[in-house]
Amino acid sequence: MNVLNRTHQKSKNGIPYFENPEIEKLGWVIHGFLTRQGGVSLPPYDSLNVSFSNGDQKGNVFLNRGRITSAFGFEPNQLVLLKQMQLDGILILKDPVDQNPDPLKYDAMITNIPRHFLGIQTADCIPIFMVDQRKRLITAIHAGRQGTALGITKKALTKMKEWGCSEDDLLITLGPSIGPCCYEIDEKVFLKEWEPFSIHKGMGKWMLDLARINIAQLKEVGVKEGQIFQVDLCTRCHRDLFFSYRGEAQTGRQLSFIGILK
Ligand SMILES: [Zn+2]
Repeated sequence: MNVLNRTHQKSKNGIPYFENPEIEKLGWVIHGFLTRQGGVSLPPYDSLNVSFSNGDQKGNVFLNRGRITSAFGFEPNQLVLLKQMQLDGILILKDPVDQNPDPLKYDAMITNIPRHFLGIQTADCIPIFMVDQRKRLITAIHAGRQGTALGITKKALTKMKEWGCSEDDLLITLGPSIGPCCYEIDEKVFLKEWEPFSIHKGMGKWMLDLARINIAQLKEVGVKEGQIFQVDLCTRCHRDLFFSYRGEAQTGRQLSFIGILK
């Protein structure tokens, strides 16, 4: 596994972000795991909140989205956002999408269409991107506890294989998310299969490493360590950089996006 940390932080037009240098090198795809910095929203959404559904002022969210899309060279209407459900629905985008009037109720999407910038909104959950270097196909996943329990990452990879991808051609990146240092869950939602990725605290509490569970799902279907990258920064520990639902409850959502240029 390849670890990316704060030394890998970059900035474009005042928007800080993280990226996987191996994906950047490909040339035909752009992506970024953005932070909470660089926007106009006021506390507790300060400042680059991209979500309309947490109580922030709509006008500020529009401005934030506009700042992001202009910094990275695309249009706000080319940003495809999901109504994330904490489930395992996967959108297969084979035709250009019209997001209105129905929200896209999914937690992952796969496409090979250029200029569709797939966006995942998070504040502790893991944004995961998969790129097939040979088929020129991209996948964006929102993996929270529930999606992880449903095996969303493994299911997305299965869908890619149905589309003709081989696991050997993939570059996979996990963005910033809540780490095992901060993610306590109780036995009501704990799964036995998560034991190897957890520390038992006693009293029915566990510290869970959600990223490692998703990485294990990938390895189960044949992905190798060297193909996997992780921005290894805990969103709750680094609240200067990231929104954290566990850390703040009333807070914003940061955007991670990936898109095919041509
Ligand atoms: Zn932490």
